[in-house]
Amino acid sequence: MKKIPREVQEVIFELEKAGFEAYVVGGCVRDLLVGKKPGDWDVATNAKPEEIQRIFPKNFYENKFFTVTVATESVDPSLKEIEITTYRSDFEYGDRRRPGRVEYAKTIEEDLSRRDFTINVIALRVKDRTQELLDPYEGQKDLKAKIIRAVRDPNERFNEDALRMMRAVRLSAQLGFGIEKITREAIIKNAALIKEISQERIRDELIKIIRSERAAGGMELLYEVRLLTYIMPELAEGYGVTQNKHHKYTVWEHNVKSLEYATQKNYSFEVRLASLLHDVGKPKTKRGEGPDATFYGHQVVGARTARKILERLHFPKESVEKIVLMIREHMFVYDPETVTLKGVRRLLARVGAENIDNLFELREADRIGSGVPKAQPYRLRYLKAMVEKVRQDPVSPRMLKINGDDIMKTLGIEPGPKVGAALAILLEGVLEDPTRNSKEYLQKRVRELGQLSEQELQDIARKAKQSAQNAQERIDQEIKRKYLVK
Ligand code: ATP
Ligand code: MG
Repeated sequence: MKKIPREVQEVIFELEKAGFEAYVVGGCVRDLLVGKKPGDWDVATNAKPEEIQRIFPKNFYENKFFTVTVATESVDPSLKEIEITTYRSDFEYGDRRRPGRVEYAKTIEEDLSRRDFTINVIALRVKDRTQELLDPYEGQKDLKAKIIRAVRDPNERFNEDALRMMRAVRLSAQLGFGIEKITREAIIKNAALIKEISQERIRDELIKIIRSERAAGGMELLYEVRLLTYIMPELAEGYGVTQNKHHKYTVWEHNVKSLEYATQKNYSFEVRLASLLHDVGKPKTKRGEGPDATFYGHQVVGARTARKILERLHFPKESVEKIVLMIREHMFVYDPETVTLKGVRRLLARVGAENIDNLFELREADRIGSGVPKAQPYRLRYLKAMVEKVRQDPVSPRMLKINGDDIMKTLGIEPGPKVGAALAILLEGVLEDPTRNSKEYLQKRVRELGQLSEQELQDIARKAKQSAQNAQERIDQEIKRKYLVK
């Protein structure tokens, strides 16, 4: 006997009481059988949507796919809503995305036959305290053998809905299953169809792969079955690109190994994606071959490329910004001889205190993922200790003890470029020595600056800003000039 939550049992009970059939179907039965907690519960029934709605007053219904969502009292997120879908069949897959026309099916068997993989088409019937499994495609056998196999003809299934190819890889990563040979060959053959699927649907599967324990294996599989070439061609480009004496792996292998480490450490979704994409700029910036090949500015090109990829896939803006920032900054210097407190404050200013720990995680993943972790961990620890030391220090104009209004008042001037110039100069001084961030000191300094001509003030400000410009911006310029990378 499998444990079915009370909320789901009640839904089934109500449907049966009204004279309908009701089965638990899909991913939740699969998860139950392998002992995983289902993420959501789906019920299939021969009741029509209007009939379901009549039975469950607390529902909402989106007409398109015959699914009525019923709200429960549960606080468990997987049980707050239960989806009840009328048996469906007879699909018309006009654009290979969503069925163009959906028709009711008469039986559960017919409904199951239009679904994707054998392990997903086991139905569970609860009747008078007994349970009965309906398993027309031998899903249990495949579950035991850990195999993902398309229902009936895989070519047909993937031509009906190309997203199923991504779902196969995603399930493989989540469950640790292999893809059965004929199904796998059908994915390779039909991979190009994924181009017709919306980026949002692809992204959602990708997120599930990256979040899974086998994220690295999932990415490798995406490459092997040719899907990656269509989803992230920029990343696939690293395949076979050798590096230099500091690396044992090719660019592609290194990206995947970094993701693997980030996953093992259970780093956040954003750090995992940053690890996967952190060297995506290398194929384009590679100069020379063999042990001395270089990749100057790959972090800048990589950040730009990652932005293109992530925006194309419609990742949330906040995640995009964070990942792009990490990739851009992942080459920070942490050689105890060269790092100064001022430099660390600048790093903190560029990265933001809220992102610095994630940046260190990325660098760690990068280091381990190289296969020859040459830089000793104590160096990174040293830098981390320095960050702790300066974490509370003022690193941005906002953190100064006086603001633009104070400057205008002190100097008796109107808003204008002078105010910004003065702020830049003050910040530069405070980055050098945070004890200068007192009202008295800064006010004194402002009065001194007030003695200068507009021209002199602008000159000092420019110098301050220039020294503040990070080396990467300079590299950025250089790369543009040299390699015409857009
Ligand atoms: P999870 O809920 O863990 O993300 P799942 O397999 O339950 O995975 P759902 O999107 O909840 O996925 O779908 C529920 C069920 O509906 C699946 O198990 C499968 O039987 C069927 N299904 C979902 N998407 C498709 C599809 N694109 N083509 C065919 N059947 C599908
Ligand atoms: Mg599900």
